[in-house]
Amino acid sequence: LGRHKDDHRPTHFEYNGVRFGQDNLNVFAGLCAVDTPEHVEMMMKALQEHGQVCTRMGAYKPRTSPYAFQGHGKDCLPWVFELAGKYGIKVIAMEITHESHADEILEALKQTGNPTGVMLQIGTRNTQNFELLKIVGRQREFPVLFKRGFGITLDESLNAAEYLASEGNRNVVFGLRGMKTNMGDPHRNLVDFAHVPVVKRLTRMPVCVDPSHSVGTRNRAPDGLLEIFHATMQGVIAGANMILVDFHPAPTKALVDGPQALLMEELPLFLECVRNAREAYEKN
Ligand code: PEP
Repeated sequence: LGRHKDDHRPTHFEYNGVRFGQDNLNVFAGLCAVDTPEHVEMMMKALQEHGQVCTRMGAYKPRTSPYAFQGHGKDCLPWVFELAGKYGIKVIAMEITHESHADEILEALKQTGNPTGVMLQIGTRNTQNFELLKIVGRQREFPVLFKRGFGITLDESLNAAEYLASEGNRNVVFGLRGMKTNMGDPHRNLVDFAHVPVVKRLTRMPVCVDPSHSVGTRNRAPDGLLEIFHATMQGVIAGANMILVDFHPAPTKALVDGPQALLMEELPLFLECVRNAREAYEKN
């Protein structure tokens, strides 16, 4: 992925008709956690209406408390995939926390006739789960969204990503999602999107930013714009190639991370901000 930059492997890959490269941009707006078929359908319908073919949907949720909702797991996969097919979604970013989850996803895709594709997400809590990384690296079916560890150095995270490549899977996107500093940050995490060009310089991976888990609130800046929008545009201006962002049709009913979810009616403005920031980046 770049630790051994001794050859000229490409800085892009294609999966299910979608290109992931250091030179383009894909938006993955969606639910942090799958809850009801109604909410999933509302989300996917809105995405189709706005020309989007990617989304994020969490079925397996790594939670701080064992008593918190853990995700619907494999039970929701068939109907989530069928709804994705119905609305033309080509790639769903979906976190897995155990090797069996990749098998369950593969099985559910087969059962439903492969109506969509899945990008396996390795969350920040598993950045250095080397055994999981080796297993995910050995499978070639799915590309991977690999998130930076929130409390380790960038170099440690980049080395951890190499576990995927060392086992053969080079279809990896590197995700920035903010860092924990324990310094009383005004956001959920310290936004680290200035590292987009650094990761692009050091590796071949396209770089994702996750403004939802970085900012973590719906606070508004003095100019009236949500701080999540500002962080998103900062990421895009820095050259981000993918945006992972939480939306929810009814955030107060969301089972995970409702307070950081954007509203469905905010989707058009969000996409417009992304387009404008990308145009500005490309002009430079
Ligand atoms: C998520 O994207 O749902 C998530 C839990 O992210 P992170 O691993 O960055 O906390």
